[in-house]
Amino acid sequence: MSKLAPYSLARKLTVASVAISASTMILITGIVYLIIVSFGNMFLYNELNEKSEFIKKSFIEPIWTYDQYQINEVGNSLLGNDKYTYISALKIQSADNELLYEKKRDNLKDKDFSAIANLPYSKSRIIKIYKGNQQIGLISLAMTNFGYIEAFRHQFIIVLVTSLLLLFALMQFVRYYFHHTLTIPMNKILAQVKQIENENYDVCEITGLPQELESISHALTQAAIVIEKRNNDIKYYTNDLEELVKERTAELEGQMAKNLNTARLAAIGEMAADVAHEINNPLTVIDLHITKLKRQEPDRNLTQETMNSIDKIQIMIKRIVKIIKGLKSLSRDGESDPFVPFSVSSMIEDVKMLVEMKVNTHDIHFDIKISDPNIYAEGREVQISQVLVNLIGNAVDAVMTYPGEQWINVDIVGKNDIVEFKITDSGNGIPESIKEKVMRPFFTTKGLNKGTGLGLSISKSIIEEHGGDLIYNNVHQNTQFIFTLRQCKECKLTA
Ligand code: ADP
Repeated sequence: MSKLAPYSLARKLTVASVAISASTMILITGIVYLIIVSFGNMFLYNELNEKSEFIKKSFIEPIWTYDQYQINEVGNSLLGNDKYTYISALKIQSADNELLYEKKRDNLKDKDFSAIANLPYSKSRIIKIYKGNQQIGLISLAMTNFGYIEAFRHQFIIVLVTSLLLLFALMQFVRYYFHHTLTIPMNKILAQVKQIENENYDVCEITGLPQELESISHALTQAAIVIEKRNNDIKYYTNDLEELVKERTAELEGQMAKNLNTARLAAIGEMAADVAHEINNPLTVIDLHITKLKRQEPDRNLTQETMNSIDKIQIMIKRIVKIIKGLKSLSRDGESDPFVPFSVSSMIEDVKMLVEMKVNTHDIHFDIKISDPNIYAEGREVQISQVLVNLIGNAVDAVMTYPGEQWINVDIVGKNDIVEFKITDSGNGIPESIKEKVMRPFFTTKGLNKGTGLGLSISKSIIEEHGGDLIYNNVHQNTQFIFTLRQCKECKLTA
């Protein structure tokens, strides 16, 4: 049998059950003892009554005849050695108190009659003997059931010792029983609890236990399943929450970037409006004078060469006016414009005007292909032209750094319900190390005062607001950005 822990439940139950059994046993034994003693007393009393009558009768004649021999004979025969209840002392006196006979049991020889009468388990009686009406003698009789009590005590001790031995054996059995039915199963359940505590939820239900403990094990197994599920849910939601925080942070950064850009565009817009106003006035005056000059031509007889120059000046004036118009529209924050269908070709014309100078300055081959000149897209035209100017501007910055052939292509294709824009340049793509970062606000590889790192992030958010997406095509051999817009097919028909 394995050892029990000092304060184990099995030990406590064993001690408790043994204590209960022992005290019950002691109580029962005590009650039995008292019953036996009182029975003994009753028995002694009856014996005393019977013997008194018998003794009285036995001594009448010897005392009357004063037959000392007979008195002695009868007396000696009475003090026999009964096993359980016997006469312990007998004294015969004549009516004149003359001692005729006295005998005590050997072990009481030195005690007088009254002391013997007061011994435990003893009773005494004084019997007067009459012949007719005349008292002829006095008998003092003491009886004891000491033998009976002694015999009982002997049995009692044997029963008690045997019971204690049995109790001890029972205790071992109870201990063993509790150990196997309580301690071992509970230790198994405890091991399961510890397993769950260590986040190991693969808990197997323990069978073959007492019914209640089996129910606990079953409940524990179910609890482990629930805890594992909750744990997984928490982990899942934590991940989700982290993702959400990342998303919101990116959104916030984008919003900040947009706000910054809006402020910048507002400032540029104001400046562009001023510049346009300042340039427009002298331009109107120049245009007026040129028109006047042309009207006077028959009078003045100008050469064909001069006339050609005048025409070229007028074309240039118109171009400058267009550029100013484009600049004003580009610098405007189109965020509050409504989503309306617009002609992609006409928007491209404005964009061309705005990027032409930058492209031409660097002698880059610039080509725009549009699958159908009547394509209409839905959205804010100003914002889409801002996106294109930005993407083409980035492409110019990139191809400038590459030696050899330098080109930028813009391909616009109408596909089902969308319009796809592909801006490709002769570059070799964006390095792997920064590919993930280019769309983040404030990320730039351009030098101080050259790049803000806002172009791509703002362009992406504009396109997303339009229900499309701006992506970097990392499988293309050159550098290519693609974005899509919703196509307005009905607009094409009604145009
Ligand atoms: P900025 O142009 O102010 O740097 P952008 O957000 O427009 O900000 O671009 C972020 C970065 O993406 C650029 O600094 C550049 O490193 C990279 N990038 C953008 N377009 C191209 C391109 N066509 N070729 C190579 N790198 C590019």
